[in-house]
Amino acid sequence: MSGLFSPAPLSPALSPEGEREGLQAFRHLYLHIPFCKHKCGYCDFNAYAGMDRLMPDYVDAIERELVFARERYPFQQLETVYLGGGTPSLLPAELMARLLRFIRANFNVAPDAEVTLEANPASTDEPKVAAWLEGGVNRLSLGVQGFDRRALAVLERKTDAAQATRAFGLAREMGLANISIDLIYAVPYQSLDTWLETLRRAIALGPDHVSTYCLSFEEGTLLYRRRAEGRLPEVETDLQWDQLDAACVELEAAGFRRYEVSNWARAGGFESRHNQAYWRCRPVYGAGAGAHSYATDGVNAWRWWNVARPREYIAAAPTPRADGEELDRRKTVAESLMLGLRTAEGVAAPAGFDGELSHLQRDGLVERIDGRVVPTRRGLDLHNQIALAVL
Ligand code: SF4
Repeated sequence: MSGLFSPAPLSPALSPEGEREGLQAFRHLYLHIPFCKHKCGYCDFNAYAGMDRLMPDYVDAIERELVFARERYPFQQLETVYLGGGTPSLLPAELMARLLRFIRANFNVAPDAEVTLEANPASTDEPKVAAWLEGGVNRLSLGVQGFDRRALAVLERKTDAAQATRAFGLAREMGLANISIDLIYAVPYQSLDTWLETLRRAIALGPDHVSTYCLSFEEGTLLYRRRAEGRLPEVETDLQWDQLDAACVELEAAGFRRYEVSNWARAGGFESRHNQAYWRCRPVYGAGAGAHSYATDGVNAWRWWNVARPREYIAAAPTPRADGEELDRRKTVAESLMLGLRTAEGVAAPAGFDGELSHLQRDGLVERIDGRVVPTRRGLDLHNQIALAVL
């Protein structure tokens, strides 16, 4: 192993002693599973196809990292565990069962903890769902992305509407009471009508939570290259707004509440508790390749991340940290303001940001309600403008 991948030295503030004394305890755990059957054309996540043979060593490495982390950092009863990717549902049932058992054996997972697993419809089958349930998974995030054949082809998704419907039905029948569906809009060739049809088909399945993401063309992806070469049409800005508006109308009419820029939950506490931890700047420990962790002592904050490539991660575990940064007091507050304003509940107005907040209020992006700053509908739609103003 070259020195390139040795963990970066901890800053004095993150020395083991400092961590035990000053840091708030982690109550949220993220595990990154970077394997995918195929790399989708739009995807810039830390995800890899063709590496399935590394899975057993990878799970060993995550376990090594977690044992080390548990010794080094303060953990309390876990309120959420999130298995994201990549495609966690690709892990063979017995390997995922082992990882879930390991977490329960080594961490105090609250009896009512939210345990989410991201699944691809194509790799969701009966033995796997049984293993997930047995391991305590109680929330499924199903990467449907769409039902329209043409949009799925542009995204290079290898799953289709029938697989999504089958996977959803199977998970529901087997007992998953909390299922979220991801959808993507602003896809080239996706009309307002096909998007409406997608929304209606998703709602008809009866999900508890829906995430709608606006397609972005990230440098380095196949989709980015195809667009740069003129092989994909631009999506008109007006159409993007109409599609976002259609999502608001359809989902709200179906009883969903938009509680964050891209997320809708039906009544009854179906908001993602894990993602709320990020938006509220709670400490989250991220294990696995490329996973990010966030820690705070209540004044300053620290963020660090692991080496990204699975093979290098396996070699570096249990200390796979690649790099990190310390956020000073102002940056910590600015980030929590920016992230809090992603959510409909907003944040308590922090000191030191009066100028920025007045400016956002004048632009109709936020309003003040009972000492809190909350985003308006326009603020949720144009959150990037809030981020630019605040950071
Ligand atoms: S399945 Fe998800 S993580 Fe994997 S390549 Fe496709 S979009 Fe990326």
